[in-house]
Amino acid sequence: EAVWVGVDVGGTKVLAGVVDDRGRVTRTARRTTPGRRVDARMVEDALTEAVLEAADGHPIAGVGVAAAGFVDAAGERVRFAPHLPWRDEPVRARLAARWRAPVLLENDATAAAYAEATYGAGRGSDDLLMVTLGTGIGGGIVLGGRLHRGAGGMAGEFGHMRVVPDGLECQCGNRGCWEQYCSGSALVRYARAAIGVRPTVLEEICGGNASLLTGPMVTDAAESGDLVAREAFIEVGTWLGHGLADLVAAFDPGCVVVGGGVSAAGDRLLEPARRVLDRALVGAGHRTVPPVLAAALGPEAGLIGAAALVRTDERRRRRRV
Ligand code: BGC
Ligand code: ZN
Repeated sequence: EAVWVGVDVGGTKVLAGVVDDRGRVTRTARRTTPGRRVDARMVEDALTEAVLEAADGHPIAGVGVAAAGFVDAAGERVRFAPHLPWRDEPVRARLAARWRAPVLLENDATAAAYAEATYGAGRGSDDLLMVTLGTGIGGGIVLGGRLHRGAGGMAGEFGHMRVVPDGLECQCGNRGCWEQYCSGSALVRYARAAIGVRPTVLEEICGGNASLLTGPMVTDAAESGDLVAREAFIEVGTWLGHGLADLVAAFDPGCVVVGGGVSAAGDRLLEPARRVLDRALVGAGHRTVPPVLAAALGPEAGLIGAAALVRTDERRRRRRV
């Protein structure tokens, strides 16, 4: 039987999965993202390997691609991607030709928002904001029960809101972007700065080589009680709360769902964010402060959403012809 596949293309990894009609993932496959300064085709090769491995020999009914970048309004091109080599590439048509299957292209966090609103933590909320913390920050917006993509398809680039004028350089080319202070990359940077300065198990975990430190290492160390790792999460969580205060002021959502790799830390990340949001949100004493929820679908939200979107789209198209 033909399968629907979703594939999430992030700055660090590519995760593909077969998704059933209820949004459940039955088989996954992953690859490392080849980098941002390589030929775009190398990323497409990694994508292809992951998709075929996940499909495991079954015919493919369609593939939803959730890409960490600026997807145009037509869903044809990735116009720009701070962490990937795609620059104005006609990704959808190229992959559809390569896989001989229908392909739908969507921004990763927008796809995640769709999944969380349909099957996850945001069910029942017509106005929802999704924030994913990984290599960068992704944003997805559901307004009045529908995805909001913006005039050019690029709404929800929350990670590049400039929270520190002339702040840290970002891979997008600007400075002071929120994702430089609040993301997996920022988490690692905060923890790294303490290695060799303060006692921390991270020193041993990365074999004394701070450049080998990864986000999951910091998550594990925090779990085991390491203070440096815990403070790194408080730092990211605090920045999360500040950014959310601005987003909630702008959108007045019914809930905020936080996903991406960093969100595996759960309340360790979300509690500081909620505390800041409670006091920083304009008019906090005179309104309902929306709940800040952990993504129910975890790191699979993006691929689940993309698979659901391509399935819905294809079924609608077939009914029409
Ligand atoms: C990109 C977004 C993407 C996000 C999460 C950001 O740097 O600009 O398009 O959704 O990272 O992957
Ligand atoms: Zn930026």
